[in-house]
Amino acid sequence: MNAPHRPSPGKVWLVGAGPGDPDLLTLKAARAVACADVILVDDLVAPGVLAHASPVARIVHVGKRGGCPSTSQAFIERLMVKEALAGRTVVRLKGGDPFVFGRGGEEREALMAQGLDVEVVPGVTAGIAAPARLGIAVTHRAVTHGVAFVTAHGKDDDEPDWRALVASGLTLVVYMGVARAARVVAGLRAAGMRGSMPVAVIQDATRDDERSVVATLDGLVEAIALAGIGSPAIIVVGRVVAQAHAATDLRALVREPARR
Ligand code: SAH
Repeated sequence: MNAPHRPSPGKVWLVGAGPGDPDLLTLKAARAVACADVILVDDLVAPGVLAHASPVARIVHVGKRGGCPSTSQAFIERLMVKEALAGRTVVRLKGGDPFVFGRGGEEREALMAQGLDVEVVPGVTAGIAAPARLGIAVTHRAVTHGVAFVTAHGKDDDEPDWRALVASGLTLVVYMGVARAARVVAGLRAAGMRGSMPVAVIQDATRDDERSVVATLDGLVEAIALAGIGSPAIIVVGRVVAQAHAATDLRALVREPARR
């Protein structure tokens, strides 16, 4: 039995903040943010999302951009557990969707292991929002049977099974791929994808500083450099990209074969 003065544990919400545009926040996410006592915010979360927070909420930025020093995962989980056990309502705000390359699964397990009540609020993932900005229908039925979300940046440096992905004929939406674009191209080419396959890259999708380029697979690395694209960006590979309208179109200009 708990001592009488001990508060009953608060709830933890794992909330998807969408890709950037605060209007792409769900109503449920906005409500969860509004009722939070403590909000742990990833660095991919657009500042406008925090406009929904209570003025007295404690806001903790726990970003972890690739390669930069950041708050450790263990610290983030400890903080959430501590605050929730103290009876506070905790919102863990993540870019896009919490369960799409967002470590939401790990965090949910850690919280549940402490007996905490956890609710997940899905968000609009960048892999859906970014192609949509260029008019790319990722599952256009005239062209493909579906779409695969992959990361070029797996745990322990492993790579996706490019051969299986190419054989599937699915549209490929690659997260965390810009810095490794050369490896993505090499992997896809070695797996038999044609060098003229259309590709699109969209940085900061749905934000004011969005940039985008379309090119061919063989021209991908050069197109990223020419368009000045950096992280965070989504790479879309597949025939559905043929109809894309990007800020920069390098399909005709870039003919450099990819370095293998
Ligand atoms: N949970 C997030 C993904 C986190 S992984 C989601 O569902 O969207 C981080 C990667 O997401 C980035 O490297 C990039 O590939 C992608 N990303 C996130 N926000 C983005 C945005 N606004 N525009 C383009 N890519 C984005």
